Amino acid sequence: MIDDMTQMLDLGMFSEFEKTIMQENKIEFSKAIGKMLKASRSAAKLTKCYYCDNEITSFCNSHSVPAFCLKNISVDGKLGTLNSLIEFPLVDNDKGVKQAGTFQLICRDCDSKIFSDYENPENYDKVPTSKMIAQIALKNNLKFISKRLIETEMYNYMSQNQNFPEHLKMAKQYVTDLDLKEYIDGFKKAKRAIEKGWDDQYYLCYYKKLDYVVPIAFQSCISLTVGFDGEIINDVYNPSPKYVIKPIHICILPLENESVIMMFVDNGDTRYRKFYKTFNSLELEEQLLTLVYIMFAYSEEVYFSPNIHKKAKESSALINTSQLGQDIVSLTPKFNPLEMLKKNFDLSQRKRIPNFLQQEYKIR
Ligand SMILES: [Zn+2]
Repeated sequence: MIDDMTQMLDLGMFSEFEKTIMQENKIEFSKAIGKMLKASRSAAKLTKCYYCDNEITSFCNSHSVPAFCLKNISVDGKLGTLNSLIEFPLVDNDKGVKQAGTFQLICRDCDSKIFSDYENPENYDKVPTSKMIAQIALKNNLKFISKRLIETEMYNYMSQNQNFPEHLKMAKQYVTDLDLKEYIDGFKKAKRAIEKGWDDQYYLCYYKKLDYVVPIAFQSCISLTVGFDGEIINDVYNPSPKYVIKPIHICILPLENESVIMMFVDNGDTRYRKFYKTFNSLELEEQLLTLVYIMFAYSEEVYFSPNIHKKAKESSALINTSQLGQDIVSLTPKFNPLEMLKKNFDLSQRKRIPNFLQQEYKIR
C-alpha cells in the first residue's frame, strides 16, 4: 500500500538529510504514511464499478502493465522499480508482479472483458488493431482517474490531520481537478470508441517489433512537455481550464520472445506532430534511447528486470533523470518555469543514460 506513495510524491523532493531522518524513523514514518494512505483510499473508494456502473463491494486489482509482460521480465517473481534506484526510504525497493502498478476501480467481470484483446499475447503477431489501442487508452485513463481520486483524499487528510497549508491544498486541488477532468474525458472517448467499434479515434504514430525481449515493461500516457528542438509541446503551467494537456500513450511490451513498442495519440491532435516526425526519422538505436529517457524522466511507473538493476544504479545520469519533477515553487515573480522545463527535460540529455532497450541488454 505504501508503494502508492512513491507515485504521488515527487521523488526528487527529499534531500539526503531528510532521507536519513526518514530512514532513522522508518517505522514511525511508515506507520503514519500507511495510516494516511489507508484513510485516503477508503475515502476515495467508490460503490459502483467505474465501467459498467453496477453496484459492487469488492474491486478487481487491475494491472496497468499486463501481468504477462511483467512475468516475462521478472526474476523469481520480482521486478525492479524506480524506487529501487532512488531509494526512497519508506518504500520496499522491489515489487512482486502481483502488486506492480495496480489500481482498483472496476469489477472483476469488466476487468476480464474490457482489456482482453490487448492483454492477449497472441494478438501481437500483427500491428495492433484499433480496438486494442482503444483498450490501452481506456486503461491508461482509468489508472490516472484512480490516482487522482486518491490524491484528492490525501490532500484532504493532510489538511485535516497534518497542518498541510490550506493555500497549498487549494492550489494542488485545483490542478488535480483539472487533471481528473481530462482523464475522465479520455476515458469516455476510449469507452465510446470500443462500444461503437470506431477505428479512427487514435493515431498510431510509432510501432516497432523487436526480435528480442527487452528488460523493461511500460504502459502509460505521458504529457510530454519539451520536443527535440526545445519546443514546448504541453505548457503544463498554463492555468486556464480551457487549455487541455494532450497525452501521448507509450507501450513497451516484452512478449515471450519478442518485444512490441508503440506510441499513439488522439487522432487529429497536431501537438505531437513535430515530435513524432523527428522521432520516426531517427535511427532505431536513437529512437530506443529517446524512449528510455522519456520513461524515466516523465513517469514513476517503469518496471524493469532485476538483471539490469546494477547497471541502472551505476548511472548517476539515469538516477537524476528519474528524479525530475514538474512541481516548481518559486518566490521570484520573474522566474520563467518554461525555461526551467526546457532545461530539465531537454531530450538531448538522453545521450548520457544507458540504452536499456538495445540488444545489448536483452533478456533473451
Ligand atoms: Zn464492471
